Amino acid sequence: MRIPELVHFVDGGPLADPAGPPLPVIDPATGREIARGHGATAAVIERALAAAARAQPAWGAMRPVERARILHRAVALIRARAEELARLETLDTGKPIAETRVADWPSGAEALEYFAGLAPTVTGRTIPLGGDMVYTLREPVGLCVGIGAWNYPSQIACWKAAPALALGNAMVFKPSELTPLGAIRLAEILTEAGLPPGVFNVVLGGGDVGAALVTDRRVAKVSLTGSVPTGRRVYAMAAEGIRAVTMELGGKSPLIVFEDADLEDAVGAAMLGNFYSAGQVCSNGTRVFVQEAIAQRFLDRLAERSRAIRLGDPMEESTQMGPLISAAQRDRVLAHLRTALAEGARLVCGGRAPDRPGFFVEPTVLADVTDAMTIAREEVFGPVMSVLTFAGEEEVIARANATEYGLAAGVFTRDLARAHRVVARLEAGTCWINAYNLTPVEAPFGGVKASGVGRENGHAAVEHYTREKSVYLGLGKVEAPF
Ligand code: NAD
Repeated sequence: MRIPELVHFVDGGPLADPAGPPLPVIDPATGREIARGHGATAAVIERALAAAARAQPAWGAMRPVERARILHRAVALIRARAEELARLETLDTGKPIAETRVADWPSGAEALEYFAGLAPTVTGRTIPLGGDMVYTLREPVGLCVGIGAWNYPSQIACWKAAPALALGNAMVFKPSELTPLGAIRLAEILTEAGLPPGVFNVVLGGGDVGAALVTDRRVAKVSLTGSVPTGRRVYAMAAEGIRAVTMELGGKSPLIVFEDADLEDAVGAAMLGNFYSAGQVCSNGTRVFVQEAIAQRFLDRLAERSRAIRLGDPMEESTQMGPLISAAQRDRVLAHLRTALAEGARLVCGGRAPDRPGFFVEPTVLADVTDAMTIAREEVFGPVMSVLTFAGEEEVIARANATEYGLAAGVFTRDLARAHRVVARLEAGTCWINAYNLTPVEAPFGGVKASGVGRENGHAAVEHYTREKSVYLGLGKVEAPF
């Protein structure tokens, strides 16, 4: 069988350069190669950055409503091709079609729609000085680099492209080397919608390509979605050139279930926050703290519902969980499980890699987990839920916060005063009360502590994709002391 070629998208069209290192795209459900690209060479990176730098001034000078019109056309194209795009995302990531139909591209389209609507309302300010005055201009930052992770590849590309482009910037985007298909498709759709050449470019490749982009002198801003170790490296490289950054990094988020919670809802949320996308979600509530009085009932119901999860071919409508992204990721998750059991965690259900092609791991629940265990401290990024117990409110707040991460947190209780009291003290960028992992584009999303810098989505993203220029307007005579 001939493997389809995947090429970069630069300056409004495809750009092939087979001189770059081969980049196989593997279907995680079968382990088979479904496409082959090449990592960007220095020449490709240069062409992408040069195209973006050339295109940005005219794009940034356009009326925001005109830019918005193009983005709205892209939204219509995405919606018209929803099924095809969902299938592409499932092929690329192994996530069940039931998920990719509702989560990935639909969320990406909403980001484009939201920022297309928001951009024309973004204005500067006037600041009276009792005579003289200052007005401010909200300007695009210029050339932005976006770098994506593999868990929500198309959504991440859209979440970065939408505010960047709507607000007049150009972008060179590098998807994860494991999941490059969606970003290329986004570039094609934006171009079809009328985006001028060079405004959105996609180059393929690994960390070396990302590093070359981050350190280029023309780049004004870097937005990364990835792990904390990569975040540290990219942040440091960006700092060298005093570049602005948005860092969407990893987490080890707490989900706290008080004894008065609706048990069925809390169990459902814990499953949603650990098993959706086979657990490969940055904001997952991987430390589930359950109050002692209900711990056994919680675990019993959790085990019952988790055992019923249908693992299988992600293209099947009825499949509820697909594989992990790669053999390496599956092996990392299994190694974490072995360590957890060796350190004293108790396996409630799951725990194995089913004997079938693809990179599957069963939905797994661990009980008797304590704060000191590796499984409670390190991000696993797989379908592994750790259940810990607690006695009281003060104690659980302290334990929830005792981590270097601070991406998200959840609280389940019927006592709303307690819910608000607790979330006010949780060190996390996003909190949910009686819900989990809902991330509407209207709400700012991002982390505190090691989980990140800056915010995506909501009005907050405007701050990160524009800069404010102050213009002092002298209305009187100049009073020089000379
Ligand atoms: P990763 O850190 O391995 O890679 C992320 C991206 O960075 C990839 O495109 C990779 O090629 C690139 N990269 C790697 N080294 C680089 C370097 N030195 N310079 C520039 N770019 C470099 O992450 P991953 O394994 O793809 O994704 C999983 C991680 O992403 C998890 O930690 C997860 O929590 C995190 N994540 C965070 C969010 C969020 O919004 N906070 C969302 C999704 C995933």
